[in-house]
Amino acid sequence: MPTETTYDAIVVGAGPAGARTAEVLARRGLHVAIVEREPEPGAPVHCTGIVSTECFEHYRLPESLIINPVRSFVLRSPSGRGARVKRKSTQAYVLDRPAMDRLLVERATAAGAEVITSTNVTDIAWTGTGVEAQAKRGGETFAMSARSAVIATGFGGKLPRKAGLGSPGDLLSGCQVVAEARDVDQLEVLTGQAYGDGGFAWLVPWKPGLALTGLMTRRGTMDHLGDHVARLQAEGRIGAVREVYRCRAIPIGTSSHTVSDGIVGVGDAMGLVKPTSGGGIYFGLLSADLAGPVLADAIEAGDVSAARLSSYENQWRELLDAEIKQGAALRGLIEQLPDALVEQMHRLLGVPGLRRLLVRAAPSFDWHSGPLTSFLTRLQRSTDDARARVG
Ligand SMILES: Cc1cc2nc3c(=O)[nH]c(=O)nc-3n(C[C@H](O)[C@H](O)[C@H](O)COP(=O)(O)OP(=O)(O)OC[C@H]3O[C@@H](n4cnc5c(N)ncnc54)[C@H](O)[C@@H]3O)c2cc1C
Repeated sequence: MPTETTYDAIVVGAGPAGARTAEVLARRGLHVAIVEREPEPGAPVHCTGIVSTECFEHYRLPESLIINPVRSFVLRSPSGRGARVKRKSTQAYVLDRPAMDRLLVERATAAGAEVITSTNVTDIAWTGTGVEAQAKRGGETFAMSARSAVIATGFGGKLPRKAGLGSPGDLLSGCQVVAEARDVDQLEVLTGQAYGDGGFAWLVPWKPGLALTGLMTRRGTMDHLGDHVARLQAEGRIGAVREVYRCRAIPIGTSSHTVSDGIVGVGDAMGLVKPTSGGGIYFGLLSADLAGPVLADAIEAGDVSAARLSSYENQWRELLDAEIKQGAALRGLIEQLPDALVEQMHRLLGVPGLRRLLVRAAPSFDWHSGPLTSFLTRLQRSTDDARARVG
């Protein structure tokens, strides 16, 4: 079994988290390989590609990636009543996700990283002095060695465990379709038991004459998606389905440990995702920005022990842990609400003062769980009190 070049770091996975970590490491002059099992980064696509303006600007993404800006959205109750939530400025963008992934990989290669595609990393372990990975390309199996590795494989698979990392315990799964649509002109979020346990759906204006629509739920994703698409078609909201994207698992909650000797985990693989919406692009990129410098310093110092790398884990926990925990708690709260109560709460959104409170309670597209949790908790408490008083 031939062993290929020894790298400073092997980054497994060419998604946003992996590509960004590789870029940060390569900019430090380190010898980095991104290993991706698919023939090209960004494909097959599964994601809606919505990122906040904060993320878009922070990562200096080019306008050529923008398919649509998001200035407002319609929140639909289980019975289909809509409440429009509007902000003065653009909150987010729907991006061309495959093009974004390609761009992030191009940035890494421009900084000096190598990309090895169509190569599946099947095993990875710390040898005592470095990391050894087993990889498969076509029928060929080979070993790769490095001083360190980054697990950026997205959620699922056995590699994080083999690398001595934890993995998120809870999950949803999400899937969407591209459908013909002429009159979908703003983002819609659809709620209710029709989308299964813990589920919600979305309808997003996309390229001319097309919309993306899909859902996230705990189980029975494809059945719920079929029913959802059939309902939208029966209502005349969408026409024929042009493409069905790949169904993917979405982690809810973070991994218990994200570093081991010589290895760090970033992005979805470690559960660094907003549990409310399942959005993980921004947190994945942020985790890469924290992991990259810690790993680069450790490689340069000749000490890539878990103890040294734990400063990465401390840093992401400081930045993201409370947000993700509150988001998971908020999700747990929402999942328990029966449709009748959601319907009542939705009616309250018709009251101008309360709608303003909601809009104010969610000051940012990414960092909203704290104020939103307290808003919903207060709203649920007052609804419960009112129901108790009525008897
Ligand atoms: C239906 C749906 C819609 C979504 N919409 C949004 C959205 O609008 N906004 C948002 O922010 N997030 C969204 N997400 C979540 C978002 O897609 C993820 O959070 C994001 O892709 C995570 O990035 P990542 O780099 O951690 O992992 P990924 O993007 O999953 O990349 C991991 C890469 O690793 C490769 N890989 C895996 N295992 C191996 C291996 N053993 N060897 C080699 N390569 C390997 C994979 O092929 C893949 O290319 C959505 C998710 C779903 C399911």
